[in-house]
Amino acid sequence: MDEKQKKRYWIWIVYALLGIALVAGIQLSQAKRTTSIDYSDFLDRLDKGQIKSVTISQSSVTGTYVENGASTDFKTTIVPNMQITDLIADLRAHSVVFNGEVTSTLWRDVLLTWLLPIAVIVLLWFFLFRRISSRVGGTGGALSFGQSKAKIYDRSKDRVNFDDVAGLDEAKLELLEIIDFLKNPQKYRRLGARIPKGVLLVGAPGTGKTLLARAVAGEADVPFFAISGSQFVEMFVGVGAARVRDLFEQAKAKAPCIVFIDEIDTVGKVRGGISATGGTEEREQTLNQLLAEMDGFDPQLGVIILAATNRPEVLDPAILRPGRFDRQIGVDRPDIKGREEILRVHLRKIKMSKAVDLKLLAARTPGFAGSDLANVVNEAALLAARHGKTEVDMKDFEEAIDRVVGGLERKSRILSEKERKVVAHHEVGHAMVASLVQFADPVHRITVIPRGVAALGMTQQLPEEDRYIITKPELLDRIAVLMGGRAAEEIVFGEISTGAQSDLEKATMLARRMVENFGMSDKLGPLSLGNRGPSLLGEEFAFGREQSISEATAEVIDAEMKNLLEQNYERVRDLIREQRDALEHIAEILLEKETLEGDEFRKLLEERRVKPAVKHKEPKPGKEPKVSA
Ligand code: ADP
Ligand code: ZN
Repeated sequence: MDEKQKKRYWIWIVYALLGIALVAGIQLSQAKRTTSIDYSDFLDRLDKGQIKSVTISQSSVTGTYVENGASTDFKTTIVPNMQITDLIADLRAHSVVFNGEVTSTLWRDVLLTWLLPIAVIVLLWFFLFRRISSRVGGTGGALSFGQSKAKIYDRSKDRVNFDDVAGLDEAKLELLEIIDFLKNPQKYRRLGARIPKGVLLVGAPGTGKTLLARAVAGEADVPFFAISGSQFVEMFVGVGAARVRDLFEQAKAKAPCIVFIDEIDTVGKVRGGISATGGTEEREQTLNQLLAEMDGFDPQLGVIILAATNRPEVLDPAILRPGRFDRQIGVDRPDIKGREEILRVHLRKIKMSKAVDLKLLAARTPGFAGSDLANVVNEAALLAARHGKTEVDMKDFEEAIDRVVGGLERKSRILSEKERKVVAHHEVGHAMVASLVQFADPVHRITVIPRGVAALGMTQQLPEEDRYIITKPELLDRIAVLMGGRAAEEIVFGEISTGAQSDLEKATMLARRMVENFGMSDKLGPLSLGNRGPSLLGEEFAFGREQSISEATAEVIDAEMKNLLEQNYERVRDLIREQRDALEHIAEILLEKETLEGDEFRKLLEERRVKPAVKHKEPKPGKEPKVSA
């Protein structure tokens, strides 16, 4: 059945149901016009000679009587076990026209007691469903399995601008080009410039990805289609693909426009895996259709696809290829400054007391995403209303924060004060080592804002130039930087935490490759035992060890690795012990500001550190940053 047939088929069902309802309604209204009377009343009227005609059936007598010149249809129920012959004799005595009826009322009873209620329920359900789905899913309805269910925003009503999106300056900057293209496509067409078809917004839930996408549409004044990846994938194979096709058809008809696909990872996971639910085939078809559609349309058309995900690492590489989602924009949780701005945006509509200190509120909400802050503002307003206040005051905000924190703690998304302190020292440890060893790339940014799945904080370094060959001292310094976090924790808190696991894994991997692949161990000598997958530096997963390594060699490898790691750890610990004062000072500032740019960090370090620094050049922009969590 194709779409049209399906639709027609459903329309017939609706007509049939309407017909049934109509017939039943007539029956019902007729039943109403006949008066039901008691049997005794019937006998009285018979005696009075009012009864004109009757029809006798198994269980009832129906007929008409005339009273004061008006005739009325009546119905009465026969008394069980009475002698019908007596009644007949009576009727004859009063010369009433009568006849018998054996037709059962089965059909009508069934109609009234079964079909009518069912028809009513079905109709009700149908219209309700249609109403609901047309509200949440645009043009669709119960009939539209293959329709995309994309939500289309009304441009005049739901308009969102960049002003409504607080912070996220870098992301906005990157999206400006797209807005400009949507506004003046001719300019780009004339130059033959290639405009991206797809942009991937990467960030935790509630950080404002949807909002940002809507704001792009708002700024460019183009229609905005929104759909979630999970809405594509249904139980039935082929439905998702049909929905993708439908979505693109709608979008192309409305170009220029923005299509926003939320949770793209639900369709875009790496293909070829075996899923327990058996839903893979459907998902793959959907994904293939999406890729085909993206490749298929003319980039000059002005359809820009924005997609959001929290887990870019699970995406099928095919999605990220040029001509598809070849641009990624990070949408991070806000730092303290960002939170203040978000609060300000949401407080525009709220009447609040002058005593409300936004800085303080921002400081009290570390780890909150934009949606959490929107929540806080709303809760505070509700609380104020409940207490009958005319404006929202600080106490309402404090209470609202406590409530929202409760919810977030249950989802374990909030760090304790102690944990944040540990994370701050850990990150400054990385950054410090990166700045003080000779060969490490300069620090680009440090943050204690949780990011991704495991990382609680992050230190980014930007290489000054592209590197194709890396020397042994450089590798040693990389290991040192990776160990800086753990060393700082150990020195400041006297204990180590699980937070350094991925650092240690990376360091261990580097050490192993130095010994096994790069011939950088004196004891083992210049040999490469490799067979460990793609030989890129920094590759993190190892394949099975070559079988040809002898027991003795394996022992030497282990010893050399251990040696390498321990020597470096020792070096890092010495360095951090020496600079402990600076470390703690900077960690405190980082805790307060949550993010430190490379320059700020270097300045702070310069002020406090013990020995003169190694000179660093400015990082060149546009290079892939190196990240230690
Ligand atoms: P995501 O799509 O990343 O999950 P949303 O865009 O749906 O997040 O954000 C949910 C809500 O949180 C938004 O509607 C908005 O009210 C609020 N919000 C999130 N980020 C911001 C921000 N940067 N500025 C203003 N409000 C924000
Ligand atoms: Zn780390």
